[in-house]
Amino acid sequence: MAEYSVFSLLRNGFNANRDWAPAWRKPEPKAAYDVVIVGGGGHGLATAYYLAREHGITNVAVVEKGWLGSGNIGRNTTIVRSNYLLPASIRFYEHSLKLWENLSHELNYNVMFSQRGVINLAHSPAQSDDFMRRGNALRHEGVDAEWWDRDRIARAVPGLDVSASARFPIVGGLMQRRGGTARHDAVAWGYARAADRRGVDIIENCEVTGFLRDGDRVTGVRTSRGDIAAKKVAVAVAGSTGRVMQAAGIDRMPIESHVLQAFVTESLKPTLDTVITFGGGHLYVSQSDKGSLVFGGDIDGYNSYAQRGNLPVVEDVMSEMVALFPGFARLRLLRSWGGIMDMSMDGSPIVTKGPLPGMYLNCGWCYGGFKATPASGWLFAWTIARDEPHPINAPFTLDRFARGLVIDEKGQGATPRLH
Ligand SMILES: Cc1cc2nc3c(=O)[nH]c(=O)nc-3n(C[C@H](O)[C@H](O)[C@H](O)COP(=O)(O)OP(=O)(O)OC[C@H]3O[C@@H](n4cnc5c(N)ncnc54)[C@H](O)[C@@H]3O)c2cc1C
Repeated sequence: MAEYSVFSLLRNGFNANRDWAPAWRKPEPKAAYDVVIVGGGGHGLATAYYLAREHGITNVAVVEKGWLGSGNIGRNTTIVRSNYLLPASIRFYEHSLKLWENLSHELNYNVMFSQRGVINLAHSPAQSDDFMRRGNALRHEGVDAEWWDRDRIARAVPGLDVSASARFPIVGGLMQRRGGTARHDAVAWGYARAADRRGVDIIENCEVTGFLRDGDRVTGVRTSRGDIAAKKVAVAVAGSTGRVMQAAGIDRMPIESHVLQAFVTESLKPTLDTVITFGGGHLYVSQSDKGSLVFGGDIDGYNSYAQRGNLPVVEDVMSEMVALFPGFARLRLLRSWGGIMDMSMDGSPIVTKGPLPGMYLNCGWCYGGFKATPASGWLFAWTIARDEPHPINAPFTLDRFARGLVIDEKGQGATPRLH
């Protein structure tokens, strides 16, 4: 498969783009693999790539029930950052951010990673204290964080209502300059292409309906295209975790599935060159390279496996947007959709060996799984290859809930819809 380069662009340009090879093959499933990964989202594909690249394990299949990008990897609002509070989270997401910084080069695929900065707006003295504490925690871990006062934010973000009469007046904000956005589906395609080049079979339209077992041990998967044996089976199905684990005989997971919506406006001239999050409610917005505003808010707040949401949250998100940027009230909304979110009980992910012998589990991404994609794949691949966690994902176990060692960034308690 050809390298993407200025030369291949020119050659294909002169040839009416007739000679591009498909970015990945469409193989038939083999009878057996060393590793089968269930779920061809960002995390499954990244895991396959790092298994091949970091550990030389290439006899791998990624089994996806739909098409690549049909899940949350192609539905998110593309925000990437590592500005967490707790050391375990900071280390995880900072590992990810460092991988993002070289990802386009490494994959030979432009994932359009743009470090345009992420500003978390604070709207009260108490919230400012809270954000400053988080900034200090980040700096202790060697991660960038800056406190911006209201005037500085006003200069940087024209159109933002920084007046004292705003519904939630802005006091200041925590800026992470190395944060930003990336093009979500390019991440899926880039990892898929790079994994395929190393020999990984990506099998689309192949739903896992059950697990092959030898006693307790998982020995493969039952799929809509036949049984596939595997020495190791890794599950990375995000919002479908409850259903898939049920097929493995595990009825209770510390995960709830909820719908989260995303919204896209008509295109504008460049107007917003950073990512803004609203601390008076829950809103995050950036402008895509095509000019649309891409934004979202809270989950819908009820358990669901639907990939579409309901009007009360639409209204809520729009009112937050207009409270922040009154001028955006005149824009037309072009598209909206929903994704199924795997909300964990403490708001943090699970990247671990088990819970059955021969099985490995990756889930619980809540609002934050897109930014985690590179580290999640890298650390999950390590865990699968070595049969033990890397120190960075060691705290992100499944049994932490039973042991009371939760990683609760917000201190919300066991209320998944609030994380
Ligand atoms: C609207 C929205 C906005 C978001 N915004 C952000 C953001 O700005 N920043 C951020 O960091 N995160 C964000 N997220 C979260 C992020 O998108 C997810 O946490 C992350 O994509 C989940 O991991 P994934 O990519 O592997 O999931 P998915 O892409 O959902 O992959 C899971 C795959 O498993 C497949 N699957 C399910 N069941 C089976 C089965 N039985 N057999 C085979 N395959 C199966 C599914 O079809 C799916 O393709 C957002 C999510 C949504 C929905």
